[in-house]
Amino acid sequence: MAKRKIAVIGVGKIAQDQHLPVIEASEHFELAATVSTRGVSHRGLPVFRTPGELYAARPEIDLVSVCTPPGVRHAYVREALEAGKDVMMEKPPTTTICELDDLIARAETSGRVLYQTWHSQYNAAVDRAKAMLSAEGVAAARIDWRESVRKWHPGQDWVWEPGGFGVCDPGINAFSIFTKVMPFPVFVARAKLTFPANRQTPVDVEIGFKSGEAHQPKLSAGFNWLEESGEIWTIRFETLAGNEIKLEGGGRRLLVNGATVLEHGDDEYAAMYAHFARLLEQRQSDVDAAPLRLMADVFLLGARENGPAFEW
Ligand code: NAP
Repeated sequence: MAKRKIAVIGVGKIAQDQHLPVIEASEHFELAATVSTRGVSHRGLPVFRTPGELYAARPEIDLVSVCTPPGVRHAYVREALEAGKDVMMEKPPTTTICELDDLIARAETSGRVLYQTWHSQYNAAVDRAKAMLSAEGVAAARIDWRESVRKWHPGQDWVWEPGGFGVCDPGINAFSIFTKVMPFPVFVARAKLTFPANRQTPVDVEIGFKSGEAHQPKLSAGFNWLEESGEIWTIRFETLAGNEIKLEGGGRRLLVNGATVLEHGDDEYAAMYAHFARLLEQRQSDVDAAPLRLMADVFLLGARENGPAFEW
């Protein structure tokens, strides 16, 4: 089958680290153009300053992958849907729940495919953990998500602006795993968000969850963005059967009672583009709003503390 032409909107870190190389290697897609406010092209392909210029000049490109920060995503995705494009979106989808609801409704009424990606969900170890937790139940869970903002978002000032999520930008990856694997609904009970004195988004967050479950599982999470010793992307569960199930490496390694039972490399973005191809084939949208809803509640309920100023 002929490859589908796709354009990437926003040629920043994640587009260059993942989207462009994965599209190039894909059997389903052909990169046809980029849209870049800075005019960043890829291997001499056409580059347009705005999506409107792309849609006017190359109407045959009917797919776009929106790799911008979340603050501008609603406007870009809405414009794409109105131009008749099918759309894949980076995480976090939007800065508000209302914006995401609007995009879901617009995709539905216009008959376009809308795919909200959550890259951390695309790991075999996550799927295996979900099956085990479904069989054994959850007595306790602890999320520890610590990384260096200087390494993963170098110089990106948008992460510190309102709507930039701060440390909840990586933290929502943990939530995308957590909401996928948990066998019952969880709710934010309390949160403490520490903001650098000179910034608008948190650098450290501690969360307590509750559930409606009679056995009252102990559930909590901690995110930190000043971890310079390497990434700690771990979720540890105790099951009602007495086993310890641990996801490490952002969902790429599964340990049961301390022994590694599954470990694999990084195939997340290739799996996402393969899933997008399937959705296009079936003309079906796929939007999982649960991680954003849970994170919005962290901001709604969280107590604020001021911490030391942050400088790059
Ligand atoms: P980034 O390096 O800042 O790139 C975002 C790009 O979007 C910019 O370079 C810019 O590209 C474009 N853009 C359009 N309007 C913009 C605006 N108002 N402000 C800033 N940029 C604007 O950010 P990123 O790390 O690639 O993150 C983009 C998205 O991917 C975020 O939602 C993030 O959560 C997600 N993500 C990031 C990582 C990571 O490791 N950093 C991993 C997974 C997912 P042009 O100049 O080409 O227009």
